[in-house]
Amino acid sequence: MSNMMKALVKSKPEVGLWMEHVPVPEVGPNDVLIRVKKSAICGTDVHIWNWDQWAQKTIPVPMVVGHEFCGEIAEVGSAVSKFRAGDLVGVGCLVDSDHTCPNCRDGLEQFCPNMVLTYGSPDRHKTAPVTYGGYSDSIVVDESFVLRIPTNRGLAGTAPLHCAGITTYSPMRHWGVTKGKKVGVVGLGGLGHMGVKFAHAFGAHTVVFTTSPNKKEDALRLGADEIVVSRNADEMQKHAGSFDFILDCVAAEHDINAYINLLARDGNIPLVGAPEKPLSVAAFSLIFGRRSLSGSPIGGIAETQEMLDFCGAQNITADVEVIPIQKINEAYERMARSDVKYRFSIDMASLKSE
Ligand SMILES: [Zn+2]
Ligand SMILES: [Zn+2]
Repeated sequence: MSNMMKALVKSKPEVGLWMEHVPVPEVGPNDVLIRVKKSAICGTDVHIWNWDQWAQKTIPVPMVVGHEFCGEIAEVGSAVSKFRAGDLVGVGCLVDSDHTCPNCRDGLEQFCPNMVLTYGSPDRHKTAPVTYGGYSDSIVVDESFVLRIPTNRGLAGTAPLHCAGITTYSPMRHWGVTKGKKVGVVGLGGLGHMGVKFAHAFGAHTVVFTTSPNKKEDALRLGADEIVVSRNADEMQKHAGSFDFILDCVAAEHDINAYINLLARDGNIPLVGAPEKPLSVAAFSLIFGRRSLSGSPIGGIAETQEMLDFCGAQNITADVEVIPIQKINEAYERMARSDVKYRFSIDMASLKSE
């Protein structure tokens, strides 16, 4: 019988999350055991809580979600070389891959056909049918998928960097967002607010598109140079043909053509938000101007570490509201109304009193 630990479990489709005891996976030679300190809430977790169509297709129950978290290493396997007990570390959406495919060899584990997601993938530890994530007392992860946190300040705001952070950082690095570029960010939520911070930190002229004019103060505080109310056609028209890059963070239905028309020649819009319904695209908006519509998922492990180091040097964290785990179901309800600035981060110490 293995050791047990506390975790927040989705055990049935029709109920929310409940504290239960689940087995602690064995620490293999290359594994570290992390005591989770702060665990942030990603939109993906809410899909599972809601048990929406996507969750039904992909996720078995019981399930422990959470793929943006930080903690302290409590135990290391016999062959671990990078980490020691006491190190502050983080984990994102991936906990393993095949290490051998062309994507892995290029350091792009996010495209590995055999990637192991932090929750919901078959678990090689075999203590549970699938991997369990970070809404938990502890987690066991292969050291090559563990990230070093450069500073111990702001663990709550560092946790979201492991998904929301890298999801916005990676496309900006890939498509060369730098000083002298004009960059748009559509949607000021969990992803968008990180996009604004990174675009600003890279030195780009940063424009936030939002449907609510009352987000102006906040957008400027986060690093935007300008804000455009996307419902105002005149305001949009002033920016026609001028953007090098527009990061689309919107998960709701929206008119993508309005943004394609704002791109300069060879400009690009990567989607990082995922609307449920297919977007309708006017071909001529892409053809004239040789513009691109693209997409991008998280990042590889090396790039995620690079992002964390960049955030350490630039003093960047996510803006978070810290909650005890007892408020999780309320937090999910608030997220459904976009009532959070801009990420919830769970103080996992509160799991002890459950
Ligand atoms: Zn996520
Ligand atoms: Zn691979």
